[in-house]
Amino acid sequence: MIDLQTPVAELLDSTHGKPRLLVVDDQPINIQVMYRCFAGDYQVFMATSGEQALAICKSNPPDLILLDVVMPGLDGFEVCKRLKADDATQHIPVIFVTAHTDPAQETHGLTLGAVDFIAKPVNPDVVRARVKTHLTLKFQSDLLRKLVFLDGLTGVFNRRYFDQQISTEWSRAARNQSTLSLILLDVDYFKRFNDHYGHQAGDDALRVVANALKTCLRRPADLVARYGGEEFGCILPETSYEDALLIAHELERKVRELAVPHASSSVDSVITISVGLATRPGNADGDVNNLVGLADSMLYKAKRTGRGRVCSGVLATMA
Ligand code: GH3
Ligand code: MG
Ligand code: MG
Repeated sequence: MIDLQTPVAELLDSTHGKPRLLVVDDQPINIQVMYRCFAGDYQVFMATSGEQALAICKSNPPDLILLDVVMPGLDGFEVCKRLKADDATQHIPVIFVTAHTDPAQETHGLTLGAVDFIAKPVNPDVVRARVKTHLTLKFQSDLLRKLVFLDGLTGVFNRRYFDQQISTEWSRAARNQSTLSLILLDVDYFKRFNDHYGHQAGDDALRVVANALKTCLRRPADLVARYGGEEFGCILPETSYEDALLIAHELERKVRELAVPHASSSVDSVITISVGLATRPGNADGDVNNLVGLADSMLYKAKRTGRGRVCSGVLATMA
């Protein structure tokens, strides 16, 4: 059963503030009408051409678009087609607003992926009600899309997301001949912790550890995921072996400094972790499984050689 408390609170936080609407119409008078409809409850952005609309969607994606069909240059249908073809913009709902109320046109627009079709001149109450409905649906599906990738207990990313991202980052690194570092870490003697303090205390400890790990990662591209029960993974794109080693030691230190009592540990009187680091140099050989395998064997080595420590390695390079 997923404990929704933590992730949902964070997610709702990220959608705080007024929803963002983009109004696209080549006639400024039509934009003004829409602006008056929405300015009170929404942040309203405006574009007077299809090209401008696409640029705004790329740089500063809105939550919903009201899109005129007939415009010089790129028309509304073409704009919609391009938005739906791009991963970054495909989830923005599009409502067509048009003077033509031809069923064939309407069908065409909906086939392209628009969520609705509204006739001009618009009735302010109707257009407001429809926008509200579609935004509610949009926020609900955004939330579900994110929850699929979050761990219910700790609120960090889950194994599914980790597996997807490590493959993506490996491919990117291979393409760009760039470095990629991966850290796998595991809580020491956690079975004893549960036996001693109880499973609930174990769950609380995992949450606290996950939060401490997050504070050590600073770049937007870095991520922490729950890899297994009491095991976590950190993906560090474009991070050199030396920099990743500093982070690995920081993770180990931060968790120890949490000072969560662990009376039955043989390492320390507080919770500790064992950490395995593997780095892929720019000209590495092999595939993503080699990187995960090396991080895993470094973690195993840290366990074997005393726990509460970091072991690390670099993947072989091409001959
Ligand atoms: P080692 O130092 O070798 O890692 O020993 P360990 O006891 O941590 O390792 P082991 O794999 O034997 O046991 C892992 C324990 O982690 C067993 C399991 O009950 C506990 N665990 C895994 N997931 C959870 C969880 O979600 N909540 C709690 N409370 N415990 C968990
Ligand atoms: Mg363990
Ligand atoms: Mg384990």
